[in-house]
Amino acid sequence: MGLCQSLPTPNVASKGGGGKKRVVTSSTPPSATSTSRLHSRKPSSYSSNHLTSLNSMYTSTLLPSGLPQGVHGLPNLGNTCFFNTTLQLLLGTPALTDYFLAYDWKQELNPSNFQASKNNSLTKAYANLVKTVWSKSPSKSSINSACKSVHTALCSFNSTFKGYGQHDTSECLLCLLDGLHEDLNRVRTSKPYVEDVEIDSTIGSDKSQDVEMGLKAWEGYLLRNKSIIVDLFQGQLRSTLRCKTPGCDREVRRFETFMCLTLPLDKGGEMSLEGSFRLFEEPEVLEGDNQWYCSKCKRHVDAEKCIEVWVLPPCLLLGLKRFTNGRRKINTLVSYPLSSFVPLNRPSPPHFYDLYSVSRHHGGTGAGGHYTALVRSRINDNWHSLNDSNACKEKGEVDRDGYVLAYCRMVGGGREHVRRQSVTMPHLWPAGHSKSKLFSPPPKKEGGEIT
Ligand SMILES: [Zn+2]
Repeated sequence: MGLCQSLPTPNVASKGGGGKKRVVTSSTPPSATSTSRLHSRKPSSYSSNHLTSLNSMYTSTLLPSGLPQGVHGLPNLGNTCFFNTTLQLLLGTPALTDYFLAYDWKQELNPSNFQASKNNSLTKAYANLVKTVWSKSPSKSSINSACKSVHTALCSFNSTFKGYGQHDTSECLLCLLDGLHEDLNRVRTSKPYVEDVEIDSTIGSDKSQDVEMGLKAWEGYLLRNKSIIVDLFQGQLRSTLRCKTPGCDREVRRFETFMCLTLPLDKGGEMSLEGSFRLFEEPEVLEGDNQWYCSKCKRHVDAEKCIEVWVLPPCLLLGLKRFTNGRRKINTLVSYPLSSFVPLNRPSPPHFYDLYSVSRHHGGTGAGGHYTALVRSRINDNWHSLNDSNACKEKGEVDRDGYVLAYCRMVGGGREHVRRQSVTMPHLWPAGHSKSKLFSPPPKKEGGEIT
């Protein structure tokens, strides 16, 4: 697993690790009516007064620094380049910034969620940073102070980041997103117990039920997790485990939610980003300490595990597995496309993604080294290098330092519109499968509570 194992919500999906025991559920497919048991008076988007007010938020006039609005350095508080890089990557996420600038995000705060930061201080501090950085004439001191407040709130939310030691930017990113998610979780009551969806099957058997089972898993997930972070960054994986014992043909398929894919790399040389996706989906053998418990064989067995990306999210976070378990760095040059990236040949028609941020790691080892960010300005489309307090225009070229890549999905020449995920509106669930054939949208109603 990745670096953020202790986090309570799905965070990082990576290769390796054995089969964690899970509740086996019946594989009865859900009926279309199962989603209509709750009332449907829910907004489907963040757009009420949102899009019109956004126009006044952004200006094409350059700042006195000669840089476009939103492009600023952040102070190094003492070995906090990993933190600054994380913030820059998120601050450069257009839909998340729109949410904090133009949407009434305060009504979504959830102080009673025990998994949230204390008094939702993390989200309040981050929202203040967004407002400060994206104001039309921010002072350096106001940016520094807003940045420090986020750091204080993050350290309080997760003590891993206390002190001023070097940390991993992907770990910090997942922690920050996790905090924002729980602070803004629209599930107001205590989270219901939901059984994992698991299909207990045999090798080579019919998989036609998987589309519905994937939707069932997503529905179960939404009963516990609904937030702007889910809407933007979370997708779904299908994992398949096959028993390798001769004579046993047991195969188990599960669906899991992810927020960042950690893609394996070839050692050395050069490879494409598509190639690292293929490596991610290559089967691996679970053996030795990683053996899997097969309930048919009634013992731990060697097994084959295969993970496939099942549903892609609107904002796709990709971590390149640059560090071995011994934190030795892998310097493979991954040629990641700046635009029109097609991660996989499915679903059909393909999804196209444009790169908007890169976290870069410079130096030889994970413990040392230095992080910077490369962010595309939404104002003038130029790339900028953000190195602690320094910000400057850059070409935006691919190099061996790319570590975490942030892409957003493009539809019809523009960024995809964010769809609020809720149990009652399955027609808004992530695209990728023929869900429209399974569910029809509820009747249109205006207003209602925010969920
Ligand atoms: Zn078996």
